[in-house]
Amino acid sequence: MKKIPLSQGKFALVNDEDYERINKHKWYAYKSGNTYYARRNIWTGKKKQTVIQMHRDVMGCVPRDNKIVDHKDFNGLNNTKENLQIVSVSINVHRRHKQKNNTSGYVGIYWRPKKKLWAASVRMNGRNVSCGSSKDPIIAAKKKRCGYFKNIPRKCDIELSGGFQMRILLIVKSMMMETLGPMYLSSVIKKNGHEAKIVDLSSAYDYAIKWEPEIIGYSILTGDREKFKNLNDRLKKVLKFKSVVGNCDPSFFPEGYDWADEICKGEGENWINDFLIKERGMVETANQMIDRSHINSIPWPDRTSFPNMKVRDFITSRGCPYKCSYCYNHRWAELFPDQKLRVRSVDDVVAEIKHVNPQYAYFQDSCFGVRMDWMREFAEKYEWEFEGIKYSVPYQCNFRPEMINPERGELLRKSGCVAVRMALESATNRLRSLIGRNTVTLRKVREAVDILKENRVQVMLQNILSLPGSTIEDDLFTLETNIKYKPDYAWASIYVPYPGTDLGDYCKKNGIYKGNYENITDCFFDQSILEFSEEYKEQSYCLQKIFALCVEVGVMPEISDLTIKNLPNFIHKAMRKVGDKRLYLGLL
Ligand code: SF4
Repeated sequence: MKKIPLSQGKFALVNDEDYERINKHKWYAYKSGNTYYARRNIWTGKKKQTVIQMHRDVMGCVPRDNKIVDHKDFNGLNNTKENLQIVSVSINVHRRHKQKNNTSGYVGIYWRPKKKLWAASVRMNGRNVSCGSSKDPIIAAKKKRCGYFKNIPRKCDIELSGGFQMRILLIVKSMMMETLGPMYLSSVIKKNGHEAKIVDLSSAYDYAIKWEPEIIGYSILTGDREKFKNLNDRLKKVLKFKSVVGNCDPSFFPEGYDWADEICKGEGENWINDFLIKERGMVETANQMIDRSHINSIPWPDRTSFPNMKVRDFITSRGCPYKCSYCYNHRWAELFPDQKLRVRSVDDVVAEIKHVNPQYAYFQDSCFGVRMDWMREFAEKYEWEFEGIKYSVPYQCNFRPEMINPERGELLRKSGCVAVRMALESATNRLRSLIGRNTVTLRKVREAVDILKENRVQVMLQNILSLPGSTIEDDLFTLETNIKYKPDYAWASIYVPYPGTDLGDYCKKNGIYKGNYENITDCFFDQSILEFSEEYKEQSYCLQKIFALCVEVGVMPEISDLTIKNLPNFIHKAMRKVGDKRLYLGLL
């Protein structure tokens, strides 16, 4: 760090690398309010003179570029890069010192003599936005903080001493539905005083160029790695930022991410919290370590990147107590032992839903309401009242068939559940053993479907075709079983041997899958990539396309019908629309 002498006996501080460039000009000190700054005159035309401030020059700004450079320590002469940040107008106004005539003791809190109240307001996008008022200036100041961060629940405890420090862009594959993982991270990021935004892959490049984030986080599932890597390569050519990767794929296969600057393994809230503190220090009351054994301590997800969604996603628990061999869940629990099944309190869940006030709620839990006592309490408390009329927000959730009993069916109906997703997967016992579903009999699955229908809950049955060792007869038997059970929507996918799962590793070890990682796609509807005969691959591919329609009309196809030419893809897509309409009450 070096000193640059100014007029009035003052001097400014700059980094060593900026010294030569800045010091070749003549700078002088000037006072604005209580703060001294350094500036110099520049000629922009023949007789036109203007000024540029040293802190703007250090940050590469030019006259009239509308960028605002803020001093983090409020010392206008400390022009070292660590102390400077480019901020929006509203943040700069928000971070300004109290004015001389301030009577409340708080910025943005002023006395309204007519109402005899302290009023709070923030300046956003060029407008003063009222945040409420109070007889007590401290309460008004708290309201102001809530108003400023009104999109993030439970944010009253944010101290603004650090202001927004970094822009962090989180990139997900698609934003058709809310993506809870990055939304939870966004909340922690904002709680640390930084800015966060979630965008999808298709708009990420343009958004990043415009927003110039200091950190870019990628949420990557198996099969998507290359897409994110390509985007990162493109962005690295034009922007300076730190890249962070997270979610299942980097957690299981970190060795494939030498192109990323940081890898977040497992659940990300604590990791991102520590990372931000390491990068920029801790904002006075920034989020401390989240206690995973107390899942309620995790802040609610930030939904600001997903405005106007009719269906809102929630999660009441993390982890899964079951061990299906095709699923990564129990391997995750082995890798991260503190991330086994944890359930939020009913009060916390209901408070969040009341705060969000959605038209429709989708509970993303692997298995909803695992504990019966939780389910009873939930059914009791999941209720709203408006002008004397009681109602509950319609919702959808996932269950295992063995969990559905008459009492659960009744509790689901009572609490407003409109649809349940359940997995049959395969009707053949041999295959059910292979995937770890043999603990549930077909009879139990049928009972579960019947109980739900009696309680007027729509049922989606999920099935997997082309499991290792399958024949077309096995797949047709699964279809026949679905036709008998009559779910409201029968969903069928083609098995993908995801590496890191028991069954994926079994396929690789036994030569059932001979491809490599690059052949694994993110789509469950493509032809099987296992070592099956071409004839069977085509048959099961066709069966997947017409599966839902066959269940809908109750007709079994002949094996000879299962050819690609005769069975186009639009049937599958049309039936998905029908299924979604039933499950989501026509909201999607
Ligand atoms: S019940 Fe669902 S989430 Fe749990 S292990 Fe099986 S497939 Fe995975």
